[in-house]
Amino acid sequence: IAGGKVTLDQIDGLSRTSYPLCMRQLHTALKENHHLKHGGRLQYGLFLKGIGLSLEEALIFWRAEFTKLMDVDKFDKQYAYNIRHNYGKEGKRADYTPYSCMKIIMSNPPGPGDHHGCPFRHSDADLLRQRLAAYRVPKKGVDEIMAFVKESHYQLACTRYYELTHGVMADSAINHPNQYFDESHQVTQK
Ligand code: SF4
Repeated sequence: IAGGKVTLDQIDGLSRTSYPLCMRQLHTALKENHHLKHGGRLQYGLFLKGIGLSLEEALIFWRAEFTKLMDVDKFDKQYAYNIRHNYGKEGKRADYTPYSCMKIIMSNPPGPGDHHGCPFRHSDADLLRQRLAAYRVPKKGVDEIMAFVKESHYQLACTRYYELTHGVMADSAINHPNQYFDESHQVTQK
């Protein structure tokens, strides 16, 4: 998906159809808590940029959730900067790229109250099983995914999750959340 193609009103639907588990977890936590800690804002914010959400819509998106718990002034002072920063509009004006699976799996593990990271790497096995079942992965598929997890093949677990939830074979193994999204979007648009 080229930049600027995804709009705000599509996000909720896409989170259910085309997000990898890591991003669906962040989206759900944001909607439930109206807040995400720094690691989550970075991981999810850069993903949203990668799927083509514009900076203007990103600001509306984050502000709408955060201001359910805080006033707009506080949001604009404390959080808007970081969102513009993700888009290279503040600080060094670097163009920050969305995190790869390797980066998410290998660095900055989530602590208490965090929702970032890779669920295949960082979630408790029982919770992961429950989540997969809740997302309509059949029991046999859950077992297949958990076998990969047990062998520390997190990206293969994610690839299998993709295949089971899309009913197709993946073109290649998942190595980036935005690759997952792009492949899913192509399949679900057909
Ligand atoms: Fe996200 Fe990658 Fe983990 Fe899949 S393997 S859940 S895309 S970090």
